[in-house]
Amino acid sequence: MKVLVPVKRVLDYNVKVRVKSDQTGVDLANVKMSMNPFDEISVEQAVRMQEAGDATETIVVSIGPDKAQETIRTALAMGIDRGIHVKTDAEVEPLAVAKILKAIVEGENPDLVILGKQAIDDDSNQTGQMLGALLDWPQATFANTLTKDGDSLTVGREVDGGIQTVKVSLPAIVTTDLRLNEPRYASLPNIMKAKRKPIDAKTPEDFGVDITPRLTTLKVAEPAGRSAGVKVADAAELVAKLKDAGVI
Ligand code: AMP
Repeated sequence: MKVLVPVKRVLDYNVKVRVKSDQTGVDLANVKMSMNPFDEISVEQAVRMQEAGDATETIVVSIGPDKAQETIRTALAMGIDRGIHVKTDAEVEPLAVAKILKAIVEGENPDLVILGKQAIDDDSNQTGQMLGALLDWPQATFANTLTKDGDSLTVGREVDGGIQTVKVSLPAIVTTDLRLNEPRYASLPNIMKAKRKPIDAKTPEDFGVDITPRLTTLKVAEPAGRSAGVKVADAAELVAKLKDAGVI
């Protein structure tokens, strides 16, 4: 089974997001960027499937600027076999990402595509579903568990209030949720080994995909700040205030 893992380079999840003063977007100048955390979980899943003998080849793909190659190298250091970098400096919306991924799927013929459930920069939660629709493949989103049985996958999906178990036939799309696994850290020897793994260089034009945005961001604003608290003199005053507020 061949597995394709799309990964996005995003603002590191530990970074405090700063909105640009003209409110046109988020300030990305000189901030740490990393692999989208859900994509690390996808990479880990693909590598585990290869280690278990369920996957025979694993491929990572990232669409983005030159620096997206660092994200691809991270996936290669975690154990993915080879990479595809689709270079563009433009912001690529989920539909255009899905169209590029569809073209890559048609060229590579993977049996499984594992995406993150969402990219933590745009929080779209759309690409996997759009790719499933474009390919007309079954999809299991928000995977919490994943096992391969012959020509199908059994996936436990995180839904409100519990886990829904579904079976999808291959080829299929899976999107990963937070509790599917705990991604490994790449070891130094594997980081060195990853430098020699091949990365194929492509552009959106190679796939005939028009990435012109269809959405216009009107405004990005910081969440409202919290209002100041008050200090109470003693427990009795605290209890009185809580009663007044209807909390107790
Ligand atoms: P989104 O729909 O933007 O929330 O992204 C969901 C998932 O789609 C991500 O976790 C990635 O697996 C994949 N994805 C989104 N954008 C890209 C990109 N530029 N390059 C590669 N994969 C992407």
